Amino acid sequence: MQIAIPRERREHEKRVAASPDTVKKFVGLGAEVVIETGAGLTSSFSDQDYMDAGAKVAADEAAALKDADVVLKVQRPLTEAEGGPDELSLMKKGATLVSVLAPLQNREQVEAYAKAGIEAHAMELVPRISRAQSMDVLSSQSNLAGYKAVLDAAYEYGKAMPMMMTAAGTVAPAKAFIMGVGVAGLQAIATARRLGAIVTATDVRAATKEQVESLGAKFVMVESEETGEGEGGYAKEMSDEYKRKQAELVFEHVKKQDLIITTALIPGRAAPVLITDEMLAVMKPGSVIIDLAVENGGNVTQSRPGEVVVTDNGVKIVGHHNVPSRLASDASALYAKNLLNFLTPMINKETGALDMNWEDEIILGTGLTRDGKVVHPLLTEGGN
Ligand code: NAD
Repeated sequence: MQIAIPRERREHEKRVAASPDTVKKFVGLGAEVVIETGAGLTSSFSDQDYMDAGAKVAADEAAALKDADVVLKVQRPLTEAEGGPDELSLMKKGATLVSVLAPLQNREQVEAYAKAGIEAHAMELVPRISRAQSMDVLSSQSNLAGYKAVLDAAYEYGKAMPMMMTAAGTVAPAKAFIMGVGVAGLQAIATARRLGAIVTATDVRAATKEQVESLGAKFVMVESEETGEGEGGYAKEMSDEYKRKQAELVFEHVKKQDLIITTALIPGRAAPVLITDEMLAVMKPGSVIIDLAVENGGNVTQSRPGEVVVTDNGVKIVGHHNVPSRLASDASALYAKNLLNFLTPMINKETGALDMNWEDEIILGTGLTRDGKVVHPLLTEGGN
């Protein structure tokens, strides 16, 4: 079996889908690994590192993909309409593509995988069950995003984070508020605490209170009978009455904050707006907001993807693209490990070939196309 890893070509993407470490493991399992030259450079992995791990290096993407049985990617293939090269056309019929694929937002492209005879697996759809934790790309990448968000906030903030008592006077500690306490939010709380900030956090899911407190932060929550627990541990959209109460609470709280990290997402919907123009207007000059949801519509009314917006009253709103890619080396290493953990149980130990078990709930959860057809229930008729 041949596994290929092309260089990622989308804007703002520095990650790569294999590390020298995972290449070595795949080779140990009997696979032949081909990597496109330069694919790891923006993640600090050289061609030589991959060759030392047992990979062959191909001179270009076409050469890397032409005979590959399995193609590992970080982001979905580029199309000609997006300024190409048409990466799908470089893959051979019958190949398996494993990547983050955003299938619900790109249904036509999923049809194209089926038409091209590609078996596509979307890694963001790995079910969140205990057995699949080591394959969970959303968690591995969100964790790094939560950490990096606090470093980005510290960078933009013109003051020190911890309390400092010096002979020349005392520096007050920064107050940090984390909105949305999923994987990214929890890491943001831990990181802000390590840097010496006084941290508060909020979420619509009451279950997060204990987690916030166990990290030494204070939980701030709307008093309500309504629960934000949706399916699978995710949040659901809240009622208008809840949103009004939440806005009142947040309005009072943000007046005192120096740093805010927003991470709130609702599956299948635009991110909820948590910081409005009215709230921005009462925030302190020099305070900083990092909107981690900016690429999903944003949690802050005035955040813009790829920009640092400064409001009239001096609040900085940071909307970096692709935050995990800002820590490309670690993000790639963890993402690559997720892919290795996903594929290893499917590699036949005798033949070294990929033998997908379509009875397994993980494969059923990720599999979009098979034998020339779109098969995922979210995409076939009756799905939503
Ligand atoms: P997410 O990225 O979908 O959302 C981030 C957070 O925003 C969530 O905590 C959500 O409750 C919160 N949020 C949504 N709307 C909000 C609002 N209006 N105000 C405030 N907060 C709001 O979350 P995630 O990091 O993917 O985690 C989702 C769930 O999955 C959690 O319960 C987490 O513990 C669970 N999880 C399970 C596994 C596993 O078992 N394998 C792995 C990772 C995460």
